Amino acid sequence: ASIATAPAAAPTIASSVRADAPPAIMLSGVNKWFGSLHVLRDIHLEVATGERVVVCGPSGSGKSTLIRCINRLEEHQKGRIVVDGIELSGDLRSLDAIRREVGMVFQSFNLFPHLTILENCTLAPIWVRKMPRKEAEALAMEFLTRVRIPEQAHKYPGQLSGGQQQRVAIARALCMRPKIMLFDEPTSALDPEMIKEVLDTMVMLAETGMTMICVTHEMGFARQVADRVVFMDRGEVVEQGAPAEIFSNPRTERLQTFLGQIL
Ligand code: ADP
Ligand code: MG
Repeated sequence: ASIATAPAAAPTIASSVRADAPPAIMLSGVNKWFGSLHVLRDIHLEVATGERVVVCGPSGSGKSTLIRCINRLEEHQKGRIVVDGIELSGDLRSLDAIRREVGMVFQSFNLFPHLTILENCTLAPIWVRKMPRKEAEALAMEFLTRVRIPEQAHKYPGQLSGGQQQRVAIARALCMRPKIMLFDEPTSALDPEMIKEVLDTMVMLAETGMTMICVTHEMGFARQVADRVVFMDRGEVVEQGAPAEIFSNPRTERLQTFLGQIL
């Protein structure tokens, strides 16, 4: 993790957890296998509306699979997942509903290379949300301004830096007006000088009260925004707690070893 890019001294953001609202995400007894490989083992996790959760853990521990199950890019085989009151089942309508409610940002930016930045941001709102083009473009410009790259709107992804492309990916997800945002190692493919601009964008989003799950090893970011840090190892949630607690008082040897490697 790049400690230099995220000073521990950065002020923490006030919690926006809404105790009065139903949980945004609920996983209970979730298990997932790839063939005979057991990658999620009996996961219980509840994320409150407005809560910001950082998920960390060694490579291969199941972090990506966990969040891919939450927006149903992967199917779990056992247990229940309920997202914004929608039970994830084989039902196609639940799939559509989930994709509208949940935005996702990946390690690789996954922008459409043959579309301009503006077109990348308006595609889903126009075709999935059936938003009029003019309205979709105005909304896209609003979010591109918020991630501080409105001047790039008519360029193509290949003409932008990695950090700029990832900020477009965030703006594009926000254009669908999601209630929940999932991030899967959004800065790990970036050069160090670009990490901060993407983390700053995520901090800004956190300040709006968005419910977020971020898989990241940026521990400065975790200290600054996370209500809770969840540590996974070998398909299990091994420890969880407030960032200060997790980082200063790891209870298990597995977490101690992991922190020793990344800090
Ligand atoms: P992490 O994101 O923590 O690095 P992943 O969720 O990507 O972990 O992977 C968890 C385990 O599942 C790893 O052993 C990985 O090799 C395996 N895995 C992930 N995706 C697939 C897949 N599509 N098919 C088979 N195995 C997979
Ligand atoms: Mg991963």
